[in-house]
Amino acid sequence: MTFKHYINGRWETGVTIGVSENPSDLADVVGEFARADAAQTETAIRAAADARDSWAHSTPQRRFEVLDAIGTEILARKDELGRLLSREEGKTLPEGVGEAARAGQIFKFFAGEALRIPGERLASVRPGIDVDVTREPVGVVGLIAPWNFPLAIPAWKIAPALAYGNSVVFKPAELVPGCGWALAEIISRSGLPAGVFNLVMGSGRMVGQTLVDSPLVDAISFTGSVGVGESILKGAAERRAKVQLEMGGKNPLVVCNDADLERAVDCAVQGAYFSTGQRCTASSRLIVEAGIHDRFVRRLRERTEALVTDHALKRGTEIGPVVSQAQLEQDLAYVEIGRSEGAEWLCGGERLKRDTEGHYMSPALFLAQPEHRIAREEIFGPVACVIRADSYEHALALANDTPFGLCAGICTTSLAQATHFKRHAQVGMVMVNLPTAGVDFHVPFGGRKGSSYGPREQGRYAAEFYTTVKTAYTHAGLA
Ligand code: NAP
Ligand code: MG
Repeated sequence: MTFKHYINGRWETGVTIGVSENPSDLADVVGEFARADAAQTETAIRAAADARDSWAHSTPQRRFEVLDAIGTEILARKDELGRLLSREEGKTLPEGVGEAARAGQIFKFFAGEALRIPGERLASVRPGIDVDVTREPVGVVGLIAPWNFPLAIPAWKIAPALAYGNSVVFKPAELVPGCGWALAEIISRSGLPAGVFNLVMGSGRMVGQTLVDSPLVDAISFTGSVGVGESILKGAAERRAKVQLEMGGKNPLVVCNDADLERAVDCAVQGAYFSTGQRCTASSRLIVEAGIHDRFVRRLRERTEALVTDHALKRGTEIGPVVSQAQLEQDLAYVEIGRSEGAEWLCGGERLKRDTEGHYMSPALFLAQPEHRIAREEIFGPVACVIRADSYEHALALANDTPFGLCAGICTTSLAQATHFKRHAQVGMVMVNLPTAGVDFHVPFGGRKGSSYGPREQGRYAAEFYTTVKTAYTHAGLA
């Protein structure tokens, strides 16, 4: 059986077929999936455009019911969906189930938001006139997702898009069509009019680029790499489509002399290596004050060496495989770059053999200088480096010395230092005595500088991207 696209309320065969494999066990094929060309993608875009008015004028109650039903089903099936996620993407089973649950919660949250679409009524500066400021759907939105959160990221794009009355063409990453398809299958039974939600699978170059270039697509929400994000921005700006980009990170975790050592090490291990380091919010720069540096490094190295890397579905696995051969090669290349640039290798960074053939690699730890490439470039794998800082002020300066600005963390027992850091970290999200990765679903998510562009995702702030504002003036007097 080949899993099909969902276009205009029907399941459609693709133009070609792609295979999704399990990175923990390359002999395990997750499935065969349809892939679209430009013409098939355009069919889906036209269906979304034809359906846009029906959904744009639907009642909040109807939208609530649809989104609530989707959320309920995802939550009821979180174990099964989480298992699929772990099998296809390679994060551990508890992480996969946790992400599936989060996707369900996101739909539930936006079901409620559909009932709370904000507006304002003001008096005019002129007599006898009232002013209404309301939010309307943007229209057709193209949603382009990465592979690393194959349920949660699509959920936090699709749910607000539908809640605010838009129609959708969703393109999952080619590495994880199984999760995208499972989500689409649930959405297909939720009572939406045909064409309001469409799933089109295939490559970014083909399906993604067609979405970006189509004059019928009013807005593009993209999460992925900086390079692709920048090209999407150019293409969309040319035809003045609305754009939202969430891209990379090189997130710092600052460890101060007064930090609780065990907590700091725990934050570092979780932030750097969990989900195989494949999180845009991962902490890959551990910036450690001189007074705690040696103790921290000793303990972190012990903990890192003890991490269990194995099949994502195996009980006891802490670190699953890297998602793909290409990503594994990139990670290993960075380990070599670190060595050749003179960073001090402490542990890991080696290919591992396990019972099944998969993309296994031991988590790598280096002592690096701020100018080393492994301390500056996003690797997107289980590779972290420790950078020594002379003082808190030095640590803060190092933390901000990056083109990225997604997330930053600090471990300290000083309220004054924590407060200072919250105010001066040049990022969209700050964590105090917490790992840099791991966020709530009801508050805004996003960054600054090279990490993000456009309005924030998630929480009430999602309305900024998925709606457009209308100002209406009414003269009250009839005479
Ligand atoms: P990617 O290569 O940029 O791909 C992201 C998505 O864009 C995929 O669906 C991809 O399709 C598609 N795409 C590729 N070329 C395109 C084009 N020319 N036009 C339109 N779409 C195109 O990123 P990735 O490798 O999947 O994910 C890793 C990156 O995502 C990392 O840099 C990470 O930091 C970032 N990320 C950021 C966040 C955040 O919120 N800030 C969250 C998660 C991940 P195919 O891959 O299917 O061809
Ligand atoms: Mg990629």
